[in-house]
Amino acid sequence: MNISKEQLIQDLKKAGIPEGALLHLKVSLKAIGKVDGGPNTLLDALIETVGPEGTLVIDSFITSYPLPLNEEHAKTISTEASPSYAGAMANAMIKHPDSVRSQHPIQRFTAIGKLAHELMDNHTSDSGGYDVLDRMAEMDALNLSIGRKTVGVGTTHVAIEKMGFVKKGAKMGLNYKTSNGHIQTFEVNWNGGCGRGFPKFLPLYEKAGYLKWVKIGNADAVLTNMKGTLDVEIQKLKDDPSFYFCDDPTCKDCQLNWEHSKGNLLKVKFHSLITIIKNKLNK
Ligand SMILES: [Zn+2]
Repeated sequence: MNISKEQLIQDLKKAGIPEGALLHLKVSLKAIGKVDGGPNTLLDALIETVGPEGTLVIDSFITSYPLPLNEEHAKTISTEASPSYAGAMANAMIKHPDSVRSQHPIQRFTAIGKLAHELMDNHTSDSGGYDVLDRMAEMDALNLSIGRKTVGVGTTHVAIEKMGFVKKGAKMGLNYKTSNGHIQTFEVNWNGGCGRGFPKFLPLYEKAGYLKWVKIGNADAVLTNMKGTLDVEIQKLKDDPSFYFCDDPTCKDCQLNWEHSKGNLLKVKFHSLITIIKNKLNK
């Protein structure tokens, strides 16, 4: 049976999302099930749940390319209307008539609601890529991550930046139009991360009382307190700076790309070879 807006509102309220909430979203629509009307129905349900005093924020970042940009990539100019690689929900929010897009050339968050302009207008080319989430954590925000495969609770990248970890390797960037109309190349100045290690934090958030498992449609989801999860991450990373690395011995990002990565190229190549042979034998 299809899932209606009314059912979604019921699930969101039951999950504990209060009216007036400042809510960061990470959404796998597929995990929820067949929603009548698709992403726009979920968006309407969220807007009604948080009400006119509430604010919704979603990651709706834009693809960047290796620098120097080749001729093809140089033609892509980032604007407030640029589509995001972040999925159906992010793109539905971008197209909503009341949405406000971040002024940052690449990390273009999208927000709807009372604090939308305050959060988005101040996120510019001079800001850190994840500053919006850092500010939200300070503002008592909640994060809702819908779907077991949805990675992270919004604050892990903030923690990595605050810890000052540095990633080596190729520079990325994107062209955008400056406020005086010039086309300029913006260079990525944050570090990112592979993300497959981020779920290791979930039990820690839960133990500290900052996470609860909820149900939205058919999806398992987590509702977290952003200030809480950021505190947990920073405490853990002070003890163990490698904690956010994934356990895959063939992951170049975690094994090699960080200044504090412990792997070496020979080991990664060896494990990659073993994986290829195993896959061949299993066929
Ligand atoms: Zn990894």
